Amino acid sequence: MTARIASVETFIISLPREVPYLGPLGPGERINERGYLIRHANRAIYPSTDMSVLIKLTADDGTVGWGETYGIIAPDAVTAIIDDVLGPLLLGRDPRDAVVIQEDLYDLMRVRGFFGGFYVDAIAGLDIAIWDLHGKLLGQPVVKLLGGQRSERVPAYVSGLPGRTLDERLALARDFMARGFDAFKYAAAVSFDGIVQEMQVLREGLGPQVKLMVDLHWKFTAQEAVQLIDQLTPFRPYFVEAPCAPEDIEGQAHVGASVRVPLALGEELRTVFEYRPRLERRAMSIVQPEMGHTGMSQFMQIGRMANAFHMKVIPHASIGIGIYQAASLHATAALPNAPMHEYQHSVFDRNLRYVNTRMRCEQGYFYLPEGPGLGIEPHASVWQFIRQKVKP
Ligand code: MG
Repeated sequence: MTARIASVETFIISLPREVPYLGPLGPGERINERGYLIRHANRAIYPSTDMSVLIKLTADDGTVGWGETYGIIAPDAVTAIIDDVLGPLLLGRDPRDAVVIQEDLYDLMRVRGFFGGFYVDAIAGLDIAIWDLHGKLLGQPVVKLLGGQRSERVPAYVSGLPGRTLDERLALARDFMARGFDAFKYAAAVSFDGIVQEMQVLREGLGPQVKLMVDLHWKFTAQEAVQLIDQLTPFRPYFVEAPCAPEDIEGQAHVGASVRVPLALGEELRTVFEYRPRLERRAMSIVQPEMGHTGMSQFMQIGRMANAFHMKVIPHASIGIGIYQAASLHATAALPNAPMHEYQHSVFDRNLRYVNTRMRCEQGYFYLPEGPGLGIEPHASVWQFIRQKVKP
């Protein structure tokens, strides 16, 4: 008999952290009463805790599938969409129909303009949970259901060097090098000493072999970005990320055509429909899908479409307890054009204590989880960090 989805539950998790994501607060930055802070350098809001939305699917034979989605800001928006609308529609569905279900849910609201944002995040979390359930019911790792597994491990690049001074950041990078890592990305939003100077210090301090990357955090106009990237070019960045505004496709394409270093972008995009115009205009050569936004079904379509454009996939890694990170590693290991995965060390290692998994990052590599499904489940300790949903 085929197992069917019998219940859908959502949980908001809020894990305390000592230093906010991206590092210590800058001048004039503060945490408000809801736990959010605004980074002045890129005018973006961040949480002071590690928040995400967990999804638990239970099949009628008792098998459980776990999903997780992006919930760093206003996670109640996502849980409301699932609890009120999408969750009830999954009851009775066959988890082997993961892609079909993702397409069905996406269709429900597209005519009203909901083809991104919180709505698609909610679908992404459900989609990941359905894939986990699908794998568990078959007794197979998800990567084996995606067309096949290319590798047991995935090269990791170190994302973020959260030190107060350039000396501290260089020392942190050297510490990672001593532990087998050879690729580093720093964040323009907290590059208080200057973006060019930071890359110069890192290149001179770490040597010619390491891969260096910078995330420009959408801060610049297209022309400003070209000017800046020209100054970075002598230090041979492996890629430069998110040079200008997410909406500015023509600007992104202008930068792509004007500089001599690879560009990467896409962490804010959720579907092939959002990626397509950037791919067609060659606005980048590396796409960075974020599993918490895309879900597994869209992630794989984005990755294969990027391959058709001869572009690489270097997935984004955001804030979560690790379930969508695990899903992202399964997907990465199945793609022919995914040479690395982002390693958010300040999130990943600390939050491993909240999950049962063999997934880990050591000596420059992610090791995939083992076992059927995604190979990861919440640890009992995570339930003390549930954030109460906002009551109307
Ligand atoms: Mg980024």
